[in-house]
Amino acid sequence: MSVTAATGPEPRDIVAVVGQHVTLMPHTGDRLRGVCPFCGSAVPAFIVRPAHGTFHCLRCGQGGNATHFAAAIDR
Ligand SMILES: [Zn+2]
Repeated sequence: MSVTAATGPEPRDIVAVVGQHVTLMPHTGDRLRGVCPFCGSAVPAFIVRPAHGTFHCLRCGQGGNATHFAAAIDR
């Protein structure tokens, strides 16, 4: 666990948060991908970057960090 100041969710949190809504598969490098829960694109255009704690959909452009995801999925 990181001991750095609480400036936001731990990078790994993006996987835990997104993983509750999206089935994530290995992608290039340390990235994961899955079907976007926002636009429901048939192709897995939803990219998660655990090292950065961010996600981004190549299809609809939705993106941000774990906090953004939680807020958007709750809408
Ligand atoms: Zn999308």
